[in-house]
Amino acid sequence: MQGEASGDAAHGQTRVPGAFDLEAHATLFGFEETPARATVIARGRGWRVGGAARTFGIFVVIAPIVAIFPPHAVWLIGALVTGALLARRRYIERFTLVHVEGTCPRCGATLGVKAGRLEDPHPLPCEACHHESSLQMPPEALVARAAE
Ligand SMILES: [Zn+2]
Repeated sequence: MQGEASGDAAHGQTRVPGAFDLEAHATLFGFEETPARATVIARGRGWRVGGAARTFGIFVVIAPIVAIFPPHAVWLIGALVTGALLARRRYIERFTLVHVEGTCPRCGATLGVKAGRLEDPHPLPCEACHHESSLQMPPEALVARAAE
C-alpha cells in the first residue's frame, strides 16, 4: 500500500494518474477572496472499491484478534464497525485533494492542507491567524474531471 498520493506534496509535483490542477479561491466571510490553485486526483471506481475492500478486510482480520480480550463482543463489533466506516469513507472519496497553493484571505499567510478526501467546501485552516477559510472551486470543473 505505498500511497500514490502520499508522495511529497510539499512541492506539488506528485505524478499521479488522474491528477490535475484547478483554479479555485480561498474565501473567508468578511474578507476578500484570494486565488488558490488546488491539485486534485480524480478517483476511479476501481481505486475506491478496491481500497474499501482492502480496508474492511484488514479489520475483519483484526476483529477476532482483539475479541480475545474481554468484553469480547464489544471489541469484535467495534472493529467491524470501524472497518465499515473507514471503508465507506474510501468508497465515497471521488476526489482527493493533495495540495493547495494560496494565501489566507485574512492575514496573507501561505495556506497548506493535509492530503485527503476533497470536501465541498473544503476547510483551509490558517496556521498563522487560526481562522478557517474555505476552498471554493467551480463545481463544473470537478464534474468534467470525474473518473467514471
Ligand atoms: Zn490567516
